[in-house]
Formats: sequence, C-alpha cells, structure tokens
Amino acid sequence: MFMIDLSTFKAMTTYKNSHKNSQKLFEKAKAVIPGGVNSPVRAFKAVGGNPIFIQKAKGSKIFDVDGNSYIDYVLSWGPLILGHAHPRVVKALKAAIEKGTSYGAPTPLEIELANLVLKAYPSMDKVRMVNSGTEATMSAIRVARGFSKRDAIVKFEGCYHGHADGLLVRAGSGATTFGVPDSLGVPKSYAKNTITLPFNDSNALKALINKEWKKISCIILEPVVGNIGCVLPKPGFLETLRSLTKKYGIILIFDEVMTGFRVSYGGAQEFYKIKPDMTCLGKVIGGGLPVGAYGGKKEIMSMVSPEGPVYQAGTLSGNPLAMTAGIETLKLLSEKGVYKRLQYLSSMLEKGLIDAAKRAKVTTRFYRAGTMFCTYFTDRDVFDYKTAKTSDTAKFSRFFSGMLRRGINLAPSQFEAGFMSLAHTEKDIEKTVRAAYSSFKEC
Ligand SMILES: *Cc1c(COP(=O)(O)O)cnc(C)c1O
Repeated sequence: MFMIDLSTFKAMTTYKNSHKNSQKLFEKAKAVIPGGVNSPVRAFKAVGGNPIFIQKAKGSKIFDVDGNSYIDYVLSWGPLILGHAHPRVVKALKAAIEKGTSYGAPTPLEIELANLVLKAYPSMDKVRMVNSGTEATMSAIRVARGFSKRDAIVKFEGCYHGHADGLLVRAGSGATTFGVPDSLGVPKSYAKNTITLPFNDSNALKALINKEWKKISCIILEPVVGNIGCVLPKPGFLETLRSLTKKYGIILIFDEVMTGFRVSYGGAQEFYKIKPDMTCLGKVIGGGLPVGAYGGKKEIMSMVSPEGPVYQAGTLSGNPLAMTAGIETLKLLSEKGVYKRLQYLSSMLEKGLIDAAKRAKVTTRFYRAGTMFCTYFTDRDVFDYKTAKTSDTAKFSRFFSGMLRRGINLAPSQFEAGFMSLAHTEKDIEKTVRAAYSSFKEC
C-alpha cells in the first residue's frame, strides 16, 4: 500500500493552508452550480481535492484567488496557444468592444476569419461559424446525414466530440474520467444510430464498412485522440479510413477542435497529409473566446441553410469579439518561426519529462503531437481507449497533486492532453521538469 512520508504530509498541510479562499469559494459555488463548476472535469473529482479558483492569468501563468501562481499546461483546455492575455489579442479586443459586442447581422470580420481558416485548411471550400466545438460536430453530422441521406454514424471509442446526444457514446474526456461513457438522459434511440469502433483498428473498420456501408453517412474522429490523453494514429490507419470512405461514399469528418492549429497550423490533416471531406474546428480559432466552426467541400456545405435544406443557426454565431480574437490569434500564429518555436519548446518538455520519469524510476509512456502531449503511467504502448485505460490513475493523481503543490497546473485527469503555448519559456520548462522529477518520486 502507498504511504505518504512526513515531508509529503507537511506539504499537503501547507497546500491546504494556502488555498483557503479557493476552498471557501468552492463551497459557495456548490450551493448554486451543479458540482460547483460549469464543466465537469474542472471539479478535480478524478484526482481528489478541490479545484483552484482563478483570479487572473498572463502569459504562461495563472494566478489563483489565494495569490498562488502556476505554470499552466491546461491553457483553458487548449485554446490559448499564444498564452493567456496575449497583448495583441487584448489590444484588438479592446478596440473591437468599443464598436459594440454583437449585431446579429453579418460583418467583414466573419469573412476575414473564414478566409484565414480556409487558407490553412484547403480541404474546406466553405466554413460556417458556431459558438462551440459541440455545435460544430453536431451540425457537421446533421449536414453529413442530409447530404448522404443515410442515418448511421461511426465514431471511435475514447473520441470526444462534445456533448450532443448522439455523440455521447463511448466518448472520452469527462465521460472517460467518470467511467460513465453513456450519459443518463440520452435516449437509446439516439445512440442507436451511433456505431463505435476501437481507434487504430483497420481490420474492424474494414469489416464494418464491408457489411454496413449502405447505412453509414459519415465517420467522425479525432485524428489524434486528445480526449483520452494523446493517442496517435498508427501509420496507415488514417490512409485506410480515407480510401475506404471514398470508395463507399461515406463522408469523412475530422474533428480538429483540439488538433486544429495545434498539431500544426494546418492541423492533423496537414501533418498526416489526409484530406477529409469535412472538418470541425474550435478552441484555438476563438483565441480564448467561444467559437466553433465546421466546413468542407462546396457540394456538402451548400446543403446548409439558407443555401440548402439543412437547418443550423445561432444568435451569437460569428460574434464580432470572438471573430476578432480568432483573427488576431491566427495572424500571429501564421508569422514566421512561430511553429518552429512551439515545436522546440514542446520537444524540450518532452525530453525533460521522459528523463525525469526515468531518473525517478517510474514507468511511463509519453506521447506528443505538436503542442499536445500526455504521460501515461503504464508499461503498455497506448494506441486506443483500452490501452489508455491501463494507466495507473492513482499514480497519476499523486503526480498531479505533487505538480500542483509545486506550482505546475496540469489537467486534473489522466485522460486529458497537456498543452504548450508560445508564452512558455525555457525557464518555465526547467522548473516544470524539476517539479516533475520530485512528483514522480512521490508516485
Ligand atoms: C473540446 C472538444 C470538443 C467540444 O468543444 P466544446 O467547445 O467544449 O463544445 C469537441 N471535439 C473535440 C475533439 C474537442 O477536443
């Protein structure tokens, strides 16, 4: 059995004393908000303890309501690839807010962001802006069904595509963390049209498509699965997907809400050189404001209302503030040397974390795709939902707590990716690696 030594015990007591305001706020929040949070994984349920309440953030750091600071690898769960409150984004937003916050009418900003997105993702001819990743995938699937006149969809175990009913089947993220892959409240009849397959299993995919292709409207996936940590596609898997879907007239949807502008500027589709029929985006393209987007080939997107018969709408869609933050973020990201720098920092962290685990004699598997990464506490190679679940989550929880006490903010669950930003420095990474070594030793 695991025993904590005296120094760890002392550190935990000190931690408690230095998080009193967060604790008080959490009690207050729980009285008025379900579980005290507006999105489940924020609640620290998977790792124990209480969430820290944030006062402000700047660059690579966040500051809690007790005055503690942390080097942040959560980055609002992915969007803040430039770091928090980037001066250029803040400046652009300040100027935009003076002109009004929403019009419910078209603006030039929407064309500008659309063009930036389409230029980076040549697989898309047209794109529609929405307010979240959930809306993007939900709408993309409606369009795919409308276009193909088929009802079934295929998704992969552990892939999270937001919380729309039909997609909350064997999903990752909070659903994995809580071990309830199917949510109460989702009618069986909704989930009935969702077929799930293990990720990276080309044979299972072939068998299914050969048998059921007439029913299948689309296949949706995270090309790198970030919602069970960071699971990379095996060589050939995405190629098999592409050729089979093409052959049988099935729409291939890449959910790049997380990987878009993260794995590379052109997302996983650029990195792995696969052209999907439709793409979903979110997170980074909103620069920290609520945005999602979906797009694809002209003939598919012309199905969308008012051009076509598939209805999809939004009061705040294309919101001028959200568009402004997105435009400024993408402009900055497209500047010379940005991804080289991001790659350098991510690789430095990768080497440091692998080495720290080795020195501390903890068996881990580390995976990274561009600026997203995950350390699993397992001796198995991780390539799908089942193998990800072999990770020792008790070890992860101790690692997580050790890191938090040492001023490093990781996602409070084994089954989430970590993220690098342009605001992180070599010094941040050195401090992170030192903290990781000490925290690994406590696992
Ligand atoms: C975060 C995420 C979503 C959902 O986006 P929200 O903005 O939280 O609704 C969908 N798909 C993937 C791959 C994601 O990472």
